[in-house]
Amino acid sequence: MPNQANISSNPNTTTDAFADRTDSGSADLYFHYYGMLQHQQNMLQDYIRTGTYNAAILENSQDFAGKAVMDVGCGSGILSLFAAAAGARVVYAVEASGAAKFASLLATANPSIGSRIKVIHGKVEEIEIPEKVDVLVSEPMGTLLVNERMIESYIYARDKFLKAQGKMFPRLGRIHVSAFSDDMLYQEIATKSSFWQQENFYGLDLTCLAPHATSGYFTQVVVDQIPPNVLVSNCSSITLDFMTIAAEELQEIILPLSLQVAPPCTIHGIACWFDVLFDGSTVQRWLSTAPGMPVTHWFQLRCVLERPIVVGKPGETVSGELVLSAHSRQSYDVHVTLRAPSIVPSLLPNNNGYITSTTISSSTGSSINSNVQESKGSFDLKDPYYRQLNQGWGQQQQQQPSSISIAAEDYTNSNGNGNNIEGAPTNLLGSGCNNAGNGNGNDGYCTTNGNISGDEYPHQQQQQQPTHHENGGAVILTPQSNGVRMMMMGGHEV
Ligand code: SAH
Repeated sequence: MPNQANISSNPNTTTDAFADRTDSGSADLYFHYYGMLQHQQNMLQDYIRTGTYNAAILENSQDFAGKAVMDVGCGSGILSLFAAAAGARVVYAVEASGAAKFASLLATANPSIGSRIKVIHGKVEEIEIPEKVDVLVSEPMGTLLVNERMIESYIYARDKFLKAQGKMFPRLGRIHVSAFSDDMLYQEIATKSSFWQQENFYGLDLTCLAPHATSGYFTQVVVDQIPPNVLVSNCSSITLDFMTIAAEELQEIILPLSLQVAPPCTIHGIACWFDVLFDGSTVQRWLSTAPGMPVTHWFQLRCVLERPIVVGKPGETVSGELVLSAHSRQSYDVHVTLRAPSIVPSLLPNNNGYITSTTISSSTGSSINSNVQESKGSFDLKDPYYRQLNQGWGQQQQQQPSSISIAAEDYTNSNGNGNNIEGAPTNLLGSGCNNAGNGNGNDGYCTTNGNISGDEYPHQQQQQQPTHHENGGAVILTPQSNGVRMMMMGGHEV
């Protein structure tokens, strides 16, 4: 039976590493959200997510058998139960929200494995356990990997509770960034402010506020399922190694961008996604949220620039950077800069009215005759535009995971943009989604041992596993989960 009695949080702790970095109002909302079983359900029924964790843990039972494990942020307790099923001697299931009581109930109701789970209701930054552990399991990933700033709790647990030779599931995460061209999305955001174009709103002229409204809409990151054919470049990536990264390194994350754009086109911003690696002793497994991969409740994310830039020549490189600056509301300010060689004025499209001389950044004082176009945008990762939910996601996602099947012919090597640059996210050779090599040959659920299909494990979906990992993408569209991660936590529903 799960034991909540002899190991507990320290209620007298007034401040801790979590409290030091977190606004208390944000934390209250956050743990209130996760204390609701429906939000735990949302994550559980993301079968790509849950199935990949299940496989990564059970296929690596060698790493768990007889071991002490900590589940950092156990929620419903699902990963603790997986770890116990893989043979863990004891699992310390730490959960700060009210979901701790559900974890306890679930462990009690599944005594053959649950009896080895000790639920601890408290923040990992304030609890104590009687030993160091061999393995940490956790699902600390938010939108763009780092939203929620829970990775800091994960590495706090590493420093305090993990043995020197211990393992972390997952072991690392990567953020990938590609340029995208999507005029429809751009126009959608640009026209959101059209309300403010009214000159006679109850007799008032609102137009002076229109530019402010437009700028406001362009500070929202867009979360949805990105059609792979809008990706027009290779990707730049950064790896966060959870085994070694320091908390300070997560305060400001800088990802230099060098994006080779295949077709001449208008770049409307950057598309971002992430993946994580379970580096088991027996099997390595990736959980990817790339465009075109079976979709997860994280979807993908785009930063749309109010001033797009134009790439006039095939193969031109767009440079710049993505800077993520942590803030105390458990998220990040996102700063994007893109630069491209200027194109000659005669090539500038003007049909949509937004590609004019103003596409050249005024911050640099450059003009269309200068050598560089530059565009900047700043966004709050905590305030996304959940576009997916506006587009009938609720209907789509009723589809059962066991019915998902991905035809081999879907695995092509192009996204329709002629983009077959080595390492491009749309280059499916790079994603390793190669049915021919997985041994099961028909359903797209490649596995490392090649013998698991969606039908055999109807509720334990796992992803086809890349054969190499220089980039983060593939192309299949399959709705899976219920809603966006932390919809309420952002404070702004659609
Ligand atoms: N492990 C569960 C839940 C993942 S969601 C699953 O995979 O389904 C992340 C969970 O971590 C939430 O329930 C949240 O309340 C909890 N959490 C976040 N930060 C925490 C912290 N510092 N200490 C303890 N729990 C935390």
